[in-house]
Amino acid sequence: MSSAFAQLRSLIYRPWLLATLAATASATLLLLGSLGIAMHQLQVSEIEQMNAKGERFLDRLEQIFGQLRQGVDQLQVQPLRGCSADMVAALQQIAFDNRFVFEAAYVDGSQACTNRLGERALNLLPPPDIQGPTYSYWLNTTTEPDDNRAALVLGRGNFRVSTSRGHLTDVVDLPAEGSLLVVLDKGMRAVPVLGPPQTWPPASGWPPPGDQALLEQPDRLIYRMPTKSPDYQLVLMSPRASLPLKMNGMLWLLFPGSLLLAWCIGWLVLQLVRQSRSMSSELQGALRRGELQVLYQPIFELASRRCVGAEALVRWRRHDGTLTSPDMFIPLAENTGQIRQITDFVLQRVLEQLGQVLRANPQLYISVNLAACDVMVPRIGPVAARLLALHHVAASQIAFEVTERGLIDVVVARDNLQALRAVGHQVLIDDFGTGYCSLAYLQTLPVDCLKIDKAFIDALGHDAASSGVAPHIIRMAHALQLRVIAEGIEYEDQALLLNSEGVNYGQGWLFAHPLNARQFVELITRGRRLGPRRIDDEA
Ligand code: C2E
Ligand code: CA
Ligand code: CA
Repeated sequence: MSSAFAQLRSLIYRPWLLATLAATASATLLLLGSLGIAMHQLQVSEIEQMNAKGERFLDRLEQIFGQLRQGVDQLQVQPLRGCSADMVAALQQIAFDNRFVFEAAYVDGSQACTNRLGERALNLLPPPDIQGPTYSYWLNTTTEPDDNRAALVLGRGNFRVSTSRGHLTDVVDLPAEGSLLVVLDKGMRAVPVLGPPQTWPPASGWPPPGDQALLEQPDRLIYRMPTKSPDYQLVLMSPRASLPLKMNGMLWLLFPGSLLLAWCIGWLVLQLVRQSRSMSSELQGALRRGELQVLYQPIFELASRRCVGAEALVRWRRHDGTLTSPDMFIPLAENTGQIRQITDFVLQRVLEQLGQVLRANPQLYISVNLAACDVMVPRIGPVAARLLALHHVAASQIAFEVTERGLIDVVVARDNLQALRAVGHQVLIDDFGTGYCSLAYLQTLPVDCLKIDKAFIDALGHDAASSGVAPHIIRMAHALQLRVIAEGIEYEDQALLLNSEGVNYGQGWLFAHPLNARQFVELITRGRRLGPRRIDDEA
């Protein structure tokens, strides 16, 4: 199972393959995502524009109808009838007084006259489109694209007044193939005032529910304008066919932009995979050439300041002297599986270097960090047993540190940890408080000790929000009868505070940096007590 997994990983773990996969996946996602967003934004802006156009049209139509009514009413109530110079003057006056009245005319069976001398009079009109009790309406009286031709005509008695197309279109430029329609006959017929005729009624959704003004259809937007008369409604209709065309322009930006970004992601993945591959092969060489070393950071009993043990910490010191932090190569080794070799190496080195001092001090212990994969299989127990037997050291002198992150599959981990404890090893939870371990969860785990993460020790006395965490963890540990080790103690007042809170053990730069084996053995043989000066790492 694990060899099949390793085969699959080596098959996939090729820089160019991973980079191509990353670039293709990100290009697809970026393109789809940006297309979706652009489409949505176009639709939103189209709807906003339509609403704004509709409102401007409505304002203008109210002004126009108001003036047409006023003009034709004034003509109706004045006494003149029949065509005369006075009548023409009266018609001209009406057009002069009302900005939106383009033409005013008198029409009876035998004669017709208009304010616009020499132009076609409004006497040749067909029967009105709407015949109300007081007013008659003619809609779209001309199909000629002349701004000065009448678009709407209102009639009362023998008088007609009209507005021009220009007065309607100067507020809104109607989109190509768009129309301003008057909807008649209870919504069944639509006469265009501006623009071409449209198929009517719409396939579905007409009339829009309630006060809703805008009806969105896949191919067109329909904006309904309320009128005072129940006989007709005004409608602005705009085709949506222009959407893909607008998108076309946007694609010129989106397409190369997404490709460029995807290329950058692919390149980044290529560099990262190459770097990690070269680092992982370098690490393999480092293991072979013996560039890895183990340092020991002493652990002290806080009350007596007596050294009770140490944590084994691995170092990678290259032949040129440069030091690579375990924070860099341990996560990589966990990914590549090389961590098993490192764990075995640390265990072996601990017993080789400290076997003698451990045999001479049966209460002294060394704790070794385990990775998640060390906890998930029952491998480390037999490896430790073989080495312990070889060096005649008791299992109780080797402790294992596991992080909360290493306990993902808690059932498997629990069995393996229990097996380690059963033969006498101690089990410590490292970096406690940074993961998800709850009290209930902790109760079920076979552990001896909690190590409080340095972040909570740093916060002691400084950060009010998290300084409460350490005392909480300490209480929790005491309730479960677990020992506590505080990590990263750098100041005396932290040590005093922790001791007063009932923490038994601590490690940190206040007491000692990680030491090489010789320094650590010296510390133990000179009586394990901390001298007046801190012990520094001279490795
Ligand atoms: P960790 O297990 O939490 O180890 C403690 C880290 O804190 C060590 O860093 C230690 O040098 C550092 N430290 C101790 N006291 C102080 C202090 O007072 N102040 C400050 N600023 N730092 C302090 P290091 O050795 O760089 O190790 C980093 C991490 O690498 C370790 O964190 C552990 O997760 C991992 N690691 C180190 N050695 C091994 C190993 O042999 N196996 C595995 N699996 N992981 C290891
Ligand atoms: Ca540790
Ligand atoms: Ca730690």
